[in-house]
Amino acid sequence: MRRRIVRLIGLCLLLPSCGGGDDGPAGAIAAHVTHYDYRFDVDTRLAHATITAVVDAPGDCITLPFRAADLVVATAKIDGKDIASGVVAAPSLELCGAGHEAGETITVDVDMTIPLETISTSQVGYSVTADADGNPFYYLVSWVGGCDKFGPCDSRPDQFATYTFHVTHPETLMAACPGTITETSATETTCDFTLPGGPTYSTFGVAAYPKAAWLPTDKGMWGSVHATIYDRPGTGITTAIDAAYHAGFVAWMEQTFGPYPFGSELRVLTAPTYWSGFEHPGNIVLDDGLAHATRPAYLHNTQHVLDHELAHMWAGDQTTLADTYDFVWKESMAEYLAYVYEDMTEPAAAGTTAAAWKGFSGPAKFFPVPGEHPELFAYYGDVYGPGPMVLFRQIEVLSSRGQVIAALQTLLGQAHAISVDDVLAALATTTGLDLSAYAAAWVRGTGVPEWPTINTVFTAGTGTSTLAVHQVTGGERRCKFHVRLRGPNAGDTADVEVDTFHGGIDQAIPLPTPAFAVTSTQLDPFNECLVYAGTSARTFHARPWRSERSL
Ligand SMILES: [Zn+2]
Repeated sequence: MRRRIVRLIGLCLLLPSCGGGDDGPAGAIAAHVTHYDYRFDVDTRLAHATITAVVDAPGDCITLPFRAADLVVATAKIDGKDIASGVVAAPSLELCGAGHEAGETITVDVDMTIPLETISTSQVGYSVTADADGNPFYYLVSWVGGCDKFGPCDSRPDQFATYTFHVTHPETLMAACPGTITETSATETTCDFTLPGGPTYSTFGVAAYPKAAWLPTDKGMWGSVHATIYDRPGTGITTAIDAAYHAGFVAWMEQTFGPYPFGSELRVLTAPTYWSGFEHPGNIVLDDGLAHATRPAYLHNTQHVLDHELAHMWAGDQTTLADTYDFVWKESMAEYLAYVYEDMTEPAAAGTTAAAWKGFSGPAKFFPVPGEHPELFAYYGDVYGPGPMVLFRQIEVLSSRGQVIAALQTLLGQAHAISVDDVLAALATTTGLDLSAYAAAWVRGTGVPEWPTINTVFTAGTGTSTLAVHQVTGGERRCKFHVRLRGPNAGDTADVEVDTFHGGIDQAIPLPTPAFAVTSTQLDPFNECLVYAGTSARTFHARPWRSERSL
């Protein structure tokens, strides 16, 4: 077998075309994948993929990203026929056969093994994790650019496809993946995910877990979609999920951004996960520790995380990333939309969320769009605080929430890929703000971002007093926030608006002398900007969006 593979590779290198010797077009095909039919066994990890693509530029050799294991090139097929030649050279696979014209469909069939590997201690890749009761949780997670770890896959973030997963598993397990689930037999489950298609990062994902640990609870209609929770007794999550609250959220999302994009069934599945949640379309997976977190970042932890994942159905799944380094907008939008609904229903919850964002931001080592282009895994955690603050919270304070939501309405509700630049352009249009210097200061950069440190000095006068605002660090990062003046008694407060976006980073602001003696000042009581007092101790949350289990 080895001799034959070597010979095939040799042919491919020697001939100008790797083709099948027909009279059709030769050379490299450009194509886009329209459908993945993917079969695997959860225990053996043996997998078979049938990939359907449409040819964009003619040729006889197709190359696809590929980082799985044990693919035998000689057994690969193109359009159901033996290939002429092929080569596996990670991170890609090239197979050659008959020539194809543009517009034609090409199918590729290969067998391989899914490596039991993840990025670092995360669950990105394929893993089996035991929960607190010893139940095995099988999890296949692509994440951005990662679907080629399981088979040939066009891992570009902006691509949409449809998917059919055939999962074989012990009969004690339930398998769950995006799309309509059919239990083909006691040991085989099929998930059919159809149009409008989904991005690979979230849709190429499969979970399996003992049926006894995924007990279903009907949570009724959330907007136009029927929600079911699959949860293990004792996690507290089924109880923590208030159906009326989430029904209200989904109804608001549908009114604001268009219908729920992925059919009529929504599954929410709890499991021992590395992250707080993951937005597989219509098949959301939540950390089973959310309801019992000892240091939750949000006032209602499960509620916030679930709304974040629900928001991703529109922001991330239906409308997706143009590029890996556009990652920040999808997390920021999911956070912001969960926060806006909190503010509509329970302002204290929104206040806690904005404070959490400021807490997440302190330890950030990279800008929201990092100029160094580090591996996503090295910086993704740095987007959860600065992202929603810089892209949405600070801008709603400089304009209005209505103008920010109007920008999002021009972006969401359609199956397309957008960039951070698209988000900034939409915000500039609806708010009327010139955001070019703002984006250069806050959004993009290299090195550790230096958020502004502000010193304030209050000087009492007769009739008119002065609040001097001095930005000690943070360069020309400008925004709008308040400074609260406090007096000796509990009710002695006055809030002074500071607009460095329009007024410059150092200001002396005149104000009517308060009726009380000012004894202290508090910077940014409403968490409106990533400004920090030069003197006070800061409370930071390290490693946002990680489950407590993973810390
Ligand atoms: Zn998210």
